[in-house]
Amino acid sequence: MTQDCRRLKFVSAFFFFPMRSFLARLGIRYDISGIANAYYQDDFDRIPAAEKAVVLPHCLIGEECKARFSKDEGILCVKCKNCRCGEIRTLCEEAGWQFYISPSTNFTKRLVQRKKIRAAVGGACDFEIAKGIRSTPITLKGVRLKRRKVIPQVIVTARYDCLQNDIDWELLKRIILEGAGGAMERGGGRCAEP
Ligand code: SF4
Repeated sequence: MTQDCRRLKFVSAFFFFPMRSFLARLGIRYDISGIANAYYQDDFDRIPAAEKAVVLPHCLIGEECKARFSKDEGILCVKCKNCRCGEIRTLCEEAGWQFYISPSTNFTKRLVQRKKIRAAVGGACDFEIAKGIRSTPITLKGVRLKRRKVIPQVIVTARYDCLQNDIDWELLKRIILEGAGGAMERGGGRCAEP
């Protein structure tokens, strides 16, 4: 698909988003995060590694998490292996990306300013995605988080659960290793409910 087609799909998808329940009753469903990911993927891949970040939601950390909390950097993973965040942290360190686990959306917005992040991949549930679309300016150049525009890639979490959630970890790894374009070509983006 050309970038012009992706742009048209992107603009239409966000225009019709408030009517999604009505459209769903007519049998028209669309994957808003998949459409946005496809539109932003080339720009995402052009951002230098040091200005890219994985920002994971706290709902992905393990029950026996050994992390500490930092007011500046959020949840500091110590790679205790009780969840897969440590593995992702290692991959980010090797690739020269930034890595964070955020306790809240507002924290993420401040983090992006402090760390000068220009592109970020993260996980979010459908509820948070819908809330973000209603409250955050989304433009053709990225998502405006306070004074900064960030090019996003979003992986939808398995469910709406703040304690024991899951994402498509293999897709996240491919985005870090192969870029968003390469990873999305092979599909994914939504974690199946176990
Ligand atoms: S791997 Fe990191 S985030 Fe996961 S439970 Fe251990 S310290 Fe917490």
